[in-house]
Amino acid sequence: MIVVLAGGTGAAKFLCGLVQVVNREDIYVVGNTGDDAVFFGLHISPDLDTICYTLAGEVNSATGWGLANETWHAMDTVARYGGDTWFHLGDRDLGTHLYRTARLREGAQLSAVTEEIAEAWQIGVDLVPMSDYPVRTYLELLDGTEVPFQDYFVKLRHSVPVESVTFRGASQAQPTNGILEAFSAAERIILAPSNPIVSIGPILAIPAVRNALEKYRDKVRAISPIVAGAALKGPADRLLRELGHEASVVGVAGLLADVADTLVIDEQDAALAKSVSGLDVKPVVTNTVMSTPELAKKLASVVIDC
Ligand code: GDP
Repeated sequence: MIVVLAGGTGAAKFLCGLVQVVNREDIYVVGNTGDDAVFFGLHISPDLDTICYTLAGEVNSATGWGLANETWHAMDTVARYGGDTWFHLGDRDLGTHLYRTARLREGAQLSAVTEEIAEAWQIGVDLVPMSDYPVRTYLELLDGTEVPFQDYFVKLRHSVPVESVTFRGASQAQPTNGILEAFSAAERIILAPSNPIVSIGPILAIPAVRNALEKYRDKVRAISPIVAGAALKGPADRLLRELGHEASVVGVAGLLADVADTLVIDEQDAALAKSVSGLDVKPVVTNTVMSTPELAKKLASVVIDC
């Protein structure tokens, strides 16, 4: 079994490569739920949905999130009333949030509902939220205000400097049933090329997850989401700098050294391989920019074999 710790779009691209080299039934994905939020009373799990829609071949390829062939009539109606529309929910996508919310209100656990949703989209891999406990990412901005993740990421377009990040509820949270057993059974545990602070960070903030990864460090492989000193998408590079880390593969290695034996870095960062080794993390140099499904497949092969 191959376990993958996953954020949203970077992880989803990698998983599209992985399913070309590993049978879907042998893949177990642990998704970040620190970004989960409630809008219009609906429980949204953006990272879980991005992975589900991508593996179903139904993701909106222009954005990397949301569904293909989407329409926006519900949002237009909200706008008519003067309601908040900064968090975009398409008409097709809304069905997922309606269903999830109704099931949670009936008392179902998020993990059970996620399984139902994944099965309905026939993604073929196990997809589990990192925890059934609510863990929520908050960012303290330089001006002292604290905002939930989606306010930072979508409403403020992550264009504001951050002072610190906290994962509320993480220290009391338990991993979803089955995750620790999957770690134990896995041949490889892969940290997808997702934002190390706000996508992988919340998963590692659950004490039992971090302890288990430290124990199984020998089989943990991470892929750097930072290439040539920059994030390919989103604020990972800025967040690293703002929180006192180097915005480079060396900064990523420093963050993950306790839990990852190996960091897969891009050819453009080959000159930094020595500094990664200096942190007791084995560097593996390859092309990590997944601009096509073929390149994602090649990257997945390297990660499985290293
Ligand atoms: P989000 O929740 O949608 O922001 O998604 P993630 O946290 O999973 O992914 C964002 C991170 O993925 C960014 O830091 C990107 O640099 C990284 N990323 C996206 N595409 C690629 C890629 O092709 N290769 C690598 N190495 N990283 C990527």
